[in-house]
Amino acid sequence: MNVRDSEAVEALLVANGHMSAAREDDADIVIVNSCSVRGKAEDKALGKLGLLCATKRDRPGRVVGLMGCMAQRLGADIFRKIPKLDFSVGTRQCGAIPRLVARAISGETNICEIASPDTPPDVPDAHGESGFSAFVTILLGCNRRCAYCIVPDVRGPEFSRPATEVVAEITELARHGIREVTLLGQSVMRYGIANAAWADGTVSPNGFTEPFPRLLEAVAAIPGIIRIRFTSGHPSGCTEELVRAMRLFPNICRHLHLPVQSGSDRILNRMRRGYTRADYLAAAHRLRGGMPGFALTTDVIVGFPGETVEDFEHTRTLMDEADFDNAFIFKYSPRPGTPAAAMKDDVPGEEKMRRNQVLLADQDVRGEAANQRLVGTVQEVLVEGPSLRNEERWAGRSPGNKIVIFDPPAGLQPGTVVGVHITRTAPQTLYGECVP
Ligand code: SAH
Ligand code: SF4
Repeated sequence: MNVRDSEAVEALLVANGHMSAAREDDADIVIVNSCSVRGKAEDKALGKLGLLCATKRDRPGRVVGLMGCMAQRLGADIFRKIPKLDFSVGTRQCGAIPRLVARAISGETNICEIASPDTPPDVPDAHGESGFSAFVTILLGCNRRCAYCIVPDVRGPEFSRPATEVVAEITELARHGIREVTLLGQSVMRYGIANAAWADGTVSPNGFTEPFPRLLEAVAAIPGIIRIRFTSGHPSGCTEELVRAMRLFPNICRHLHLPVQSGSDRILNRMRRGYTRADYLAAAHRLRGGMPGFALTTDVIVGFPGETVEDFEHTRTLMDEADFDNAFIFKYSPRPGTPAAAMKDDVPGEEKMRRNQVLLADQDVRGEAANQRLVGTVQEVLVEGPSLRNEERWAGRSPGNKIVIFDPPAGLQPGTVVGVHITRTAPQTLYGECVP
């Protein structure tokens, strides 16, 4: 989501007469987009801002700004930590950035433009000019209140963008050569639930009644869009209608990032996730059941307050049962003002580290086995271009979002789709040969 917001701000600044710098050192304006989801992310942003502001000694005209969740969370306090910061802007006011930059250029400093997170959002729909893949924000904020999570405080309540606006934005992207879109929302299947996203009287051609499957149906019909992804999922949104939409439209990728967080019912309850282990597994089963080759990825938090070794073992077994293709494992980090911050952070740092490593090691084995099952298959690969490690070989992504490396046939263009016969694998990568 931050990548998307950064790109929108960059495009807005370009539209206002600025130019993108190829390297950070060349930039006269540098804006740090920050994340508050874990303490470590905030520490990194603060360190980076300190370094950037130090460069102002030799470059007095340089403008340094802050956006994103940490800006929202800290408000004017940020200027006590980083006195030379020129501006700080809240999560729902990205559109104000060109104006703030202009004020900073004219000599103002410590400009603070942070509204309460429940102000109506200003969603810039600007995109960059390059590439064939784009992120599109469809749902802002979050109405769930997972006990550990700071997002509802800093991103405000849910707001679904009108479906007509989303479809218009993607149609425009497709006209500019975009072929893949990823629809973004914290709990993306809650699209159109807290506020209506569809005008009264509009009907779905295929008889969908839930707002999110209806949006998928509308996006799937946009000419030129050959791949649709969406993130993040929640088990409650994995309805029969969603599965029907995913099966019906071949341009919807058979992959979902469905964060589970824990495999212990006791911990899921303390986390206020709103589902049980059985609910989660049932959702996974529904998705995989009707869609062969479906890829499932997840997030897990280890060391949530009160997590015993037994709870942790439940997470291990759940991960085996769900047979994830990939998983991001996080050590619990108390966030100020969240419900969990009032609970005792009682799992020692070393034990969090141990649990983290155990899950990573398990996942390596599982991920490798999942990749091995693809050896011998032909994957439809959306071509990205020369691989980072070896320019001679090219890289792209499979529908399950795995990186695929292959030798490009002459004249191959990024943004096209090729079939790649998978011959071998590495933990995060598939290798193969292009098939005609
Ligand atoms: N909206 C998404 C999650 C956004 S935050 C969802 O509900 O799935 C991304 C991930 O960061 C979460 O899935 C969670 O695993 C992790 N996370 C969030 N808060 C955290 C905290 N306080 N400590 C550790 N990890 C956290
Ligand atoms: Fe945070 Fe839960 Fe909302 Fe995700 S669903 S952003 S974890 S409160």
